[in-house]
Amino acid sequence: MEQYGRQCLQYRVIAMKEINYRNIQGSVSTRKQWNAGNRHKRSRNRAFRTGIIVFLLLLILILITFCVILFIRVNKQNDIRGNAVNLPPVSGNPVDAGEQPYGDESEDYTVSKEPVDKLPSEQEVLEEGHKVVYLTFDDGPSDNTEKLLDILQQYRIKATFFTVGKDGYDDVYRRIVGDGHTLGMHSYSHDYSKVYSSVEAFGRDFEKIYNHIESITGVSPTLYRFPGGSSNTVSNVPMEKFIKYLNDRNITYYDWNALSGDAEGKEFPADEMIDRVLKGVDKYDVSVVLLHDTNALDVTVEMLPELIEELRKLGADMLPITRTSSVIQHIDAGSVK
Ligand SMILES: [Zn+2]
Repeated sequence: MEQYGRQCLQYRVIAMKEINYRNIQGSVSTRKQWNAGNRHKRSRNRAFRTGIIVFLLLLILILITFCVILFIRVNKQNDIRGNAVNLPPVSGNPVDAGEQPYGDESEDYTVSKEPVDKLPSEQEVLEEGHKVVYLTFDDGPSDNTEKLLDILQQYRIKATFFTVGKDGYDDVYRRIVGDGHTLGMHSYSHDYSKVYSSVEAFGRDFEKIYNHIESITGVSPTLYRFPGGSSNTVSNVPMEKFIKYLNDRNITYYDWNALSGDAEGKEFPADEMIDRVLKGVDKYDVSVVLLHDTNALDVTVEMLPELIEELRKLGADMLPITRTSSVIQHIDAGSVK
């Protein structure tokens, strides 16, 4: 009986151990499950965090892309304004001044837009067997500029204006550009004793007219006409020094090979002036005609319609100077290093 009782106790102990063992086993397996659950939860959290980071990175990327696009568009718009009509003479794509100079993005641009015909290039005109004539007007703006512009508009002709620095003519500078003409520089002061006194003085005057035109019209001018031309004899400083100054800045200067004598101080009748131009034009396939735009020279306004008609009879097409134009210079800029 006692033995049976001991045996019974042993069984109970074994049973208890068994139960304990099972409990331990149970709790182990619960911990395993709990651990597995935790791992699952952690990896879910990790995935969630990674998702958020990727989302934020994408958002930043989109914002940067947006900013870059915006920056490029603004820059492009500035370029369009900057390169409107006057064209770098040495390199880059040829653009006729008569082509629409402003992109569609420049609605806020202050220069009035004039629908402009697509102009042929100098080469195309020559290939057709026509002469090319570049009418150039120096010394403006003046009270006569608008009259000249009206006549040019009436004949649908584009020309080139080499202007000086004047206050009170902002709308005139803008109209020259807006009408599709080429706007060039002719010094700010046009005072020979100042402009040609030294390279430094020339540089100061150049900066002044450049900034004047650029700030009023938004166009960066690239063409220059020396007061008196590059072959003038009034400068005490050798002209090569000023030519080098312009060469270094990629500015092309234009002289002329035909003139009317409208500013020579003699009272030529209009007919005589027209004859002088025609004689000059007759000699060359490409002519740059020197004319003037000042308050005193009503005669230039008066003769312009007849001059245009006579030039057309001669088989000449009138164009604005662009970067594809032949360069007419009394002193070759290429000879100055
Ligand atoms: Zn002049």
